[in-house]
Amino acid sequence: MLPDFELSCSEFESAGLTLTPELYKKLDTYAEFLIEYNNNVNLTAITDPAEVLRKHFIDSILLSKYAKIPQNAAVIDIGTGAGFPSVPLKLYRPDISITLLDSLNKRIVFLQQLCDKLEISADFIHGRAENISKKPEYREKFDISCARAVANMSLLSELCIPFVTVGGLFLAMKGPSENVSCGTNAVELLGGQITDTAEYDLFDEKRRIVIVKKISQTPTKYPRNSSQIKKRSL
Ligand code: SAM
Repeated sequence: MLPDFELSCSEFESAGLTLTPELYKKLDTYAEFLIEYNNNVNLTAITDPAEVLRKHFIDSILLSKYAKIPQNAAVIDIGTGAGFPSVPLKLYRPDISITLLDSLNKRIVFLQQLCDKLEISADFIHGRAENISKKPEYREKFDISCARAVANMSLLSELCIPFVTVGGLFLAMKGPSENVSCGTNAVELLGGQITDTAEYDLFDEKRRIVIVKKISQTPTKYPRNSSQIKKRSL
């Protein structure tokens, strides 16, 4: 399924990462299940195994190279889809705990079966981030919230920052064409501060991770409800 071990190793090495035989086996199982499941349920537009390796697995794992993820961190992945970035990250960094949140239940059902197959533990939440972060059991309870390809920086900040404990991080994985400055005001209103933007190449494509530190509690009026969020960005 994935390119053979030697080739996959050299792909990892060129991204500055290490691939062990155990990790390769798990990622191979992940790729096979993802591509097969995707025939019936829409999970991803990327179905070529070599592309899955680069654009889903290596891209997700690079989060741990460019952002400092503390040992045993509790990570919530907002709009995780088919598990990106947090499932490959958990395979690479088994010390972290992951919570997978998505508004589409068919994706949560896939993720539950996937994590069983990969023999990794995870928590699953089906719901909209703006509703779930209002619940006391999830509000400001995570060391890290992360997201890739979910929304613009302003909206994404409102979806992600309320989950983070003061002192924790919100990590936004962004493409080259996205305007991240539109999120500056939202980040501040929600209790965050942009501390860094890591820029790097994913093979021949540019990528960025906006690193936001939570410096004060999120005011209880945020996040606003879905219709207000849609009407006006912060
Ligand atoms: N993060 C994955 C990736 O990088 O491949 C999936 C990206 S996909 C384009 C966006 C995902 O975000 C979808 O699975 C969608 O259901 C979910 N989503 C969008 N808005 C959301 C919200 N407000 N709360 C929770 N999930 C949301």
